[in-house]
Amino acid sequence: MPVFLVNPSDVSFGTAVITPRWLYVLAAATPSAYGDPIVVDETLEPLDLDAVGPGDVVGIGIHTSNAFRGYTLGRLARERGAHVVFGGIHATLFPDEAREHGAAHSVVRGDGDVVWAEALEDCAAGRPKPVYEGGRVSGQTFRAARWDLLPRASYMFGSIQTVRGCPKHCSFCSVWRTDGQQPRQRLAGAVVQEVMELRRLGFRFILLADDNFYPVTLEDLRQAGRRSDQSRLEELQALRAERFELMEQLARLPDDFVFMTQITMEAAEDPEFLDAMRKAHIRGALVGVESVTPEGLKAVFKNFNDAGEALVDRLQAFRTHDIHILGSFIFGLPTDKADTFHATADLAQRAGVSFAQFVMLMPFPGTLDFAKWEKEVGSGVQQIDGVPLTRYWLVPPGKRPKVYLPHPTMSNDEIRRGTQHTWDEFYSIRLIWQRSNFLRSLRSRLAFMLISKLYRQMYANTGMATDSARTNRSARWARWIARPCRRLFVTDPAPDLLSASRDRAHTGASRRTAGDNAAPVQFVRSGQATRQIR
Ligand code: SF4
Repeated sequence: MPVFLVNPSDVSFGTAVITPRWLYVLAAATPSAYGDPIVVDETLEPLDLDAVGPGDVVGIGIHTSNAFRGYTLGRLARERGAHVVFGGIHATLFPDEAREHGAAHSVVRGDGDVVWAEALEDCAAGRPKPVYEGGRVSGQTFRAARWDLLPRASYMFGSIQTVRGCPKHCSFCSVWRTDGQQPRQRLAGAVVQEVMELRRLGFRFILLADDNFYPVTLEDLRQAGRRSDQSRLEELQALRAERFELMEQLARLPDDFVFMTQITMEAAEDPEFLDAMRKAHIRGALVGVESVTPEGLKAVFKNFNDAGEALVDRLQAFRTHDIHILGSFIFGLPTDKADTFHATADLAQRAGVSFAQFVMLMPFPGTLDFAKWEKEVGSGVQQIDGVPLTRYWLVPPGKRPKVYLPHPTMSNDEIRRGTQHTWDEFYSIRLIWQRSNFLRSLRSRLAFMLISKLYRQMYANTGMATDSARTNRSARWARWIARPCRRLFVTDPAPDLLSASRDRAHTGASRRTAGDNAAPVQFVRSGQATRQIR
């Protein structure tokens, strides 16, 4: 029984930055009796529907941003007689919608690792159930991915998950509600084994695709320490110790590894943690800065961030530990004003942020912002082609507005143009060149410029352009530049690499380490927030 695993996308670049981990984890969860799954990442190339036939299984993982394309594929696959199974955060939130609009036979809710095999067995028997509840699996049972199925020469970064869940509760993010607030950490040894698997394929740059790599802050420990019952403190200390254990093991890897992750800004006040990150080759981190003003942070329930000059100091603390920041900023918060755009770009530059993304506030289902918006607009909600705006993902992408939440002082177009202008300003040649001054060689600085421009094309223009011609131009440009960029990140495959230790990693020994201990993951990696990493 052929099994397809599909990551839907409206735009294909031929080359992608980050490996979509969930595809290869579900591939690992597919019993060998069905053969190797056919993995299709549409950010590379669209699914060839002619390859889908009666009785096949087509598993489609969706988040809100690609649900429309996913539903289109679901309908087309079902017309061809395939069993259609949806999963991912969006299908978990709206299982009935996946059946109505995506022609789903089944929906896998939550983590798909264990129940995926059950869903396949039922499809093979011709009795697929409407819903499979995957729940939240423990960190010890996160499954290692089938990287052997990865197409060669297509991706720049490998991806591994080390922790799922986030104790915070930002209003624009669904991670804490879908993945839970209790961090579920994976065993360090299992992470390192998978790192080495990716290294054998030539990946030196690996994204630790975690909800929050720093789930226990010093403030958390202080608060727990004040309780008369010390059990919470012990629990947090154990979680923190596991983080250090992981970083110690990563530190033993060869020096040409570069890891990146997602982290909260509070790590800046924890020099011991930053030192351990640096030693562990964690050289980059996405930090959700969101807003540069205290009012903006309050609006998104992110009071634990700093604003203004204190924010500059905090972000620079990462740089002094040799950790480069991809800062994520949100525009369209009720407290934003016309001068917020330039102030944000200026602060990002002064704070030494290496890369930045500027996103417009987006009400994603599963978030507090979405629930508030849906309640506020009520039954008087605007309709587009008969679809209420609160179900905007069902509107064809070209007809959707770019801004959803009404702003007290700025029009939607002002917010969109201000955001676009901020991308232009931050990624101007002059400012990129300034930011590249931490690199010594001219070649490295030119590579930094190339990557900065690629990042801007892939993440700004394709998401914010108001017409499809501009989106297509951006995709073509990114397609053209992405392939040479890839060569800057990967190295020659080393299939015989044996050990994780720095001393032995390049010895070319002939026996490989055993695979990871088997177990589960989500259908799609995590929740969704205004910011998105493709
Ligand atoms: S935005 Fe980041 S810190 Fe906030 S809840 Fe989501 S994952 Fe946690």
